[in-house]
Amino acid sequence: IQIKDLKKVFRTEEVETVALNGISMHVTQGEFIAIMGPSGCGKSTLLNILGLLDNPTSGHYLLDGKEVGNLKEKERTQSRKGNIGFVFQSFNLIEEMTVFENVELPLTYLKVKAAERKKRVEETLHKMSISHRASHFPNQLSGGQQQRVAIARAVIANPKLILADEPTGNLDSKNGKDVMDLLTELNQEGATIVMVTHSQHDASFAHRTINLFDGQIITEVESKM
Ligand code: ADP
Ligand code: ADP
Repeated sequence: IQIKDLKKVFRTEEVETVALNGISMHVTQGEFIAIMGPSGCGKSTLLNILGLLDNPTSGHYLLDGKEVGNLKEKERTQSRKGNIGFVFQSFNLIEEMTVFENVELPLTYLKVKAAERKKRVEETLHKMSISHRASHFPNQLSGGQQQRVAIARAVIANPKLILADEPTGNLDSKNGKDVMDLLTELNQEGATIVMVTHSQHDASFAHRTINLFDGQIITEVESKM
């Protein structure tokens, strides 16, 4: 990820909000980055742009050397598929689908054949220690279990980039630790991770912490680990 002088301005009727005010940063393949800062400082906006859910108002975003800061919605969707996995604070599972179906979805979008899908879903559920819940629905699971399902869905297509927005925000400390251990393992297997967090403890799992304030980077701190 190479970002240069990124700006994002939201305009609504009379109000203009500068959510990102000139962000420049580099993230190399295999890095684990934490993004911290007070509510409203632009963390979610930055993550949405990194994840090709939204375009910046100005500036450059190079992903794998390719400018992706000005793609049309259709091109962004295409570029996301199989390349970027998302983990959210609120899990964002589809309530009408079983655990198996939720995790299978990215492979269906990628038109992977049914037998191969089944094999990979089973492997991934096993890795996330949630195989015994494959036929359950999200509302039958605890928060920790739901987040493990969400991580399974985020990683099943082997994305090179995983974006996590307060992945432990709704979890108790035991489940939060399990989630951080899983993210660490995925990072050690080669995934690049960018994680927004309010937790200093979660940030200590990252190689580097970027601190935002009022839409700007104020400090970058390397972890001692
Ligand atoms: P957090 O502080 O937990 O990161 P927020 O509550 O600030 O999250 O925002 C949650 C989501 O709501 C963000 O992804 C953002 O896009 C959207 N959002 C935040 N503020 C506004 C706003 N004023 N108008 C519309 N959408 C907003
Ligand atoms: P954080 O995630 O750090 O809490 P956000 O990125 O959600 O911050 O928001 C940064 C600023 O941009 C806030 O002032 C928020 O109200 C504003 N904002 C975010 N999304 C929108 C939106 N879709 N429309 C208008 N304002 C927004």
